[in-house]
Amino acid sequence: SSTTYTSQESKKDVLMGGLLVPGFDERICISRYNSAMYRKNAARSPCPHLIKRLREQEALQRRCGPDTAAYRRAAERIESRRNGTDGAAADANDDGACKYLVLVPYRGLGNRMLAMVSAFLYAMLSGRALLVDRGESLGDLFCEPFPETSWLLPREFPIKNLEGLTGEVPDSYRNLVQNERLVTSASDLPYVFVDLDHACTYHDKLFYCDDDRHFLHRAPWLLMRTDGYFVPALFLNPAYQDELDRLFPRKDLVFYLLAHYLLHPTNKVWGLTTRFYNSYLKDSDERLGIQVRVFDGDSPFKHILDQITACTSQERLLPEVVAQEPSFPAPAAAGARSKAVLMTGLNSWYYENIRSKYWQSATVTSEVVSVHQPSHEEHQLSGNTTHDMKALAEMYLLSMTDAIVTSGWSTFGYVGHGLGGLSPWVMFKPENLTTPDPPCRRAMSMEPCLHGPPFYDCRAKRGADTGKLVPHVRHCEDMTWGLKLV
Ligand code: GDP
Repeated sequence: SSTTYTSQESKKDVLMGGLLVPGFDERICISRYNSAMYRKNAARSPCPHLIKRLREQEALQRRCGPDTAAYRRAAERIESRRNGTDGAAADANDDGACKYLVLVPYRGLGNRMLAMVSAFLYAMLSGRALLVDRGESLGDLFCEPFPETSWLLPREFPIKNLEGLTGEVPDSYRNLVQNERLVTSASDLPYVFVDLDHACTYHDKLFYCDDDRHFLHRAPWLLMRTDGYFVPALFLNPAYQDELDRLFPRKDLVFYLLAHYLLHPTNKVWGLTTRFYNSYLKDSDERLGIQVRVFDGDSPFKHILDQITACTSQERLLPEVVAQEPSFPAPAAAGARSKAVLMTGLNSWYYENIRSKYWQSATVTSEVVSVHQPSHEEHQLSGNTTHDMKALAEMYLLSMTDAIVTSGWSTFGYVGHGLGGLSPWVMFKPENLTTPDPPCRRAMSMEPCLHGPPFYDCRAKRGADTGKLVPHVRHCEDMTWGLKLV
C-alpha cells in the first residue's frame, strides 16, 4: 500500500531531511520511506553539502553501474590487461572513464554492514562507483540504495573467487608498497586489491595514508576486502580532512546518516522487524535494548548474567525487585509505568533469567517490566539467508529502543546502537570468565569502533598514537587500541 503524506513537513521527515531521494516504488522496499517513523532521532539531518554529494554519487552510480556501456568497457579491460593485450591504454587514462570500488564484505552481518558503510564513504571520497559482492545472502537482505541501477556486482564479473583474495596476491596494495611498485602506474594493472581485514599488516594499512589523487587515482578497479568500520582512519588522512569536515559538521553522525542512506532491509526483513515491534514493544512507556554477545562460547555463563544485572542496576536502567513480597501487597496500580526490555542473543538463558526475575517478584518502583527476545539461534550461521534475516531484524529492533546496553567488541551491537542514534552502555568484554568491574560504561558517542586501526601518522610519516592526532578520533571504550569518532 502506498502512503499518502498530509503535509510537506511529514514528507520531509520520511526522506530524513533530504538524505533519501523520493521516487522509488514504495511497495518494493517498504522500509526505505517507513523506517524513520520508528525512530525518535529521525530529525538529525544531513548538511546541504552531504546531500549534494549523495545526489552526485547517485548520478555516478547510474552512469557507471552494471548494464552500462561504461561498465562493460571497464570489465573488458580487466581481461585484456591480464592477457597483456590491452591496445587501448590511452583510453584507460581518459578522465571521463568510470572507476570502481568492488567491496568484498565478509564475516558476520554486523561486520559486513560496517564494511558496506565504510566502503560507500570511501567510494564517495574517491569518485568511484561502489559495487558489492553479494555473497550468499546480501541480495535478500537489503534493497537497492541507488535509483535506477544496481549496487550488486554482476555474477559474471571477470575476477572469480573474490572471497579468496588476501593481501598476499601480487597486485595487492601491500605488495605494491613493499616492492616499491607505487611508481609504476596503477592504470597498467588489471586491478589493485586492498586488504583491510582487522588483522591486516603495516603495509596494507598504508592505504589509509594514500592520497587518492596520486597513486590509486589511476587504478580503474579497486578491489577491497574488509570486515570493519574503517571510517575513523579516513578522518586521519590529510587528503580527505577538508572534505570530511564539510560533509560532516557533526562527526558522531557519520554512521547514523550513511547507514540510513545506504541500508534498507527488504520487505521480508522489515516484516520480521515491524511485527515484533508492534506486538511487544510499541505500547510500552519505555523500551530498553540489551544485546548479549558472548565470545567465550555458545553455552550460558553465570558471569555474563551477573554483568548484565550489575550494569542495568548500577546505571539504573532496570528497577530493582522487592526482596520479599509483603503479606498484603497493594493491588497493582492501574496505569503503572511499563518498560519493555528487548533482549537479543544466540542463547535464551540470559533472557529466561531476567524475565523470570520480573515474574517472580514485584519491582520496588511498581513499574511493570516485560522481557522479550525474538530468536535464539544457538550458533552463528552467517551466510544462511534466514539466519541473517533474523540478525538484521534484531539489529533494527535494537535501534528502535530508547536506551541500549551492548556487548563490547561486537559489531552486531555497534550496528544496533549506531542505527538508533544511541550512545550505548557498553559492557566490557570479560577476561578469565569473570564479571568485569565496572561491568559497563556509557560510550562517548553512537559511532562504531574500528578494531584494526593504523598506528601511523600520515603527516609526520612515522608511528604514532592515532587516538591523539585529531580531537574527534579517540580510542574506544571497549577496545583500548580501537578508534572511534566522537
Ligand atoms: P559480531 O561477531 O558480534 O561482531 O557481530 P556479527 O554480526 O558480525 O557476527 C555475529 C553473527 O552471529 C550475527 O551476524 C548473527 O549471524 C549471529 N548472532 C550473534 N548475535 C545474535 C543475536 O543476538 N541474534 C541473532 N539473530 N543472531 C546473532
